[in-house]
Formats: sequence, C-alpha cells, structure tokens
Amino acid sequence: MNVFTIFGDPVSHSRSPLMHNSVFKSLRIDACYTRTPLKEGSQLRDVFFAKALSGANVTVPHKEAAYAQCDEVRGIARTIQAVNTLVLEDGKLIGYNTDADGFMHAIKSFGAIKTALILGAGGTARALSVALSQGGITPTILNRSSGRLEYFKNGGFKTYCWDDFIPTEYDLIINTTSAGLSDNELPIPQELLGVLLVKAKGAVDVIYGKVTPFLKEVKASALPYKDGSDMLLAQGVLASRLFLHGAYEPDTIEVPMKHSFRLP
Ligand code: NDP
Repeated sequence: MNVFTIFGDPVSHSRSPLMHNSVFKSLRIDACYTRTPLKEGSQLRDVFFAKALSGANVTVPHKEAAYAQCDEVRGIARTIQAVNTLVLEDGKLIGYNTDADGFMHAIKSFGAIKTALILGAGGTARALSVALSQGGITPTILNRSSGRLEYFKNGGFKTYCWDDFIPTEYDLIINTTSAGLSDNELPIPQELLGVLLVKAKGAVDVIYGKVTPFLKEVKASALPYKDGSDMLLAQGVLASRLFLHGAYEPDTIEVPMKHSFRLP
C-alpha cells in the first residue's frame, strides 16, 4: 500500500486526509493518507524516508524547509522557493507548489482581472504574487510591517507598509494574512479597507471554512467574494494528480474530493 501524509504544525485541522482518502476510496486505489505533526521542519526529509512515504503535502510553517530538502524542485515552486507537494520518484524527493495554480484556478470565476492587491507578505503571498504575475495580473503587496517585503522587492513587485500606502484602484483584494483566524481582527484598518472595496471588482480570503472579519466587510459591500475552499480543492486536485503520476484526469479526481467537503 502506498502511504501519503501531510506535514505541518499544527495539522489536526487539515482537510487533506479527508480529501485524498476519498479519492483513493472512490477510485479503488490501494493507498492511505495520514497526518504527521512535525515541530522541526529540518527533519522533514528524514521522516519522509523513515516512513517510506510515496508522497506528501506540506503546510504551515514548513513549506520553505521542504523546498530546501528536495532533490529536485519543479515548476513555479522554483521561483516561489516554497514547496507544498512532495512526490517520490526513482528514490528522489521531487517538490512542487500546487497552491499557486490552485489559486489561479479558483479566481477564474471573477472574470477579467488586471490588478490585485495582496494583503500579507508570508509564504502564501509569495506563491500568489508569482502566480498572478505569470497569469498576466499585476500584484501589489501590502503588509503591516516591512521585514518580509524584501522577497517581493527583489522580484520587482510594488510593495507597501500600512504607513506609506496610498490607496488606488485594484480589481481584486486578496487577504493572505492570518488575521482571519481570530474572530474580530481585520488584516488592515477598517477605513482603508472600505476605500479599497469601493473600487474593487471582488475579494478573496485564502482562509477556508469560516466567514472571516475581512469577508464580513466584503459581504456588507455587496462585492463578489470567495473564501479559500475553491483554492483548497484545486490545489488538492493538482497534488493528487502528481501523487497518482497523471493516471487520472482532474475531473475524475475532483468529484470524490469535492464530495469529501460535505462529509462531517
Ligand atoms: P505566514 O505566517 O507565512 O504569513 C502571515 C502574514 O500575515 C504575514 O505577512 C503577517 O504580517 C500577516 N499577519 C499575521 N497576523 C496579522 C494581523 N493580525 N494583522 C495583519 N497582518 C497579519 O502565513 P502563510 O502565508 O503561510 O498562510 C496564511 C494563511 O493562508 C493561513 O491562514 C493558511 O491557513 C492560509 N492558506 C490557505 C490555503 C488554501 O488552500 N485555502 C493554502 C495556503 C495557505 P507580518 O509580516 O507583519 O508578521
């Protein structure tokens, strides 16, 4: 039996085991997907081989550590320098990033988007800035502090802190900060968010499974919006295709994976 897992700290909340196991079950594939809580990201590679895994997903805060421990990194993950999917190939650890393409798939429903404002400057913001830019959408990054903006400046993106930001018009406002994990925190001051929403065509919060304070404000402004569920599903479908070495079409994987969202 092939064994897959998700590495992270924490991982107890992750829906990935449910999603991937429902695909294995539905397609009668002899495999299982588990959770592996991991405090030290530097141990990821050793644990992967000790458990004789066939593949894995990686979540917060180990995506950069996973990137550093791969034998080979493919596709957009090379630019992002963060890996969320690992596949064993001829005894080698191959790394990919499916968050980026998963996000681009999820925002198709907004129609023609030319500019986006990304709130936050962490690992997810990195993935989205590269994906948006490659998809012909100009991203601007706004973070509460300047420490993490260096990566984006080096990539040639426009960056701002709250202090030096002068709001202008952006088609899509994307919250990638962890502010939404609390029930009363906005990612930027409320007044500033209000100004941005008046001119936007839509908004996304990458957090899934709850209406964050950010999305509550968006809802009140009557703009089209999404939480992170579609991105989660799309990155999962792409990861599953990699785990199964392209043997199944995306639609064949998506149906059971989507069904798992409705399970308790
Ligand atoms: P990081 O820890 O790398 O970055 C967090 C960012 O949020 C930083 O820029 C930080 O700012 C900012 N931030 C944190 N708290 C606040 C706050 N209270 N107010 C304003 N800014 C704040 O996290 P990731 O980028 O890895 O992940 C972010 C979120 O995205 C997570 O909740 C994760 O679950 C979700 N996610 C969802 C996915 C999906 O499939 N739907 C896929 C991947 C991630 P500073 O630099 O100042 O500290």
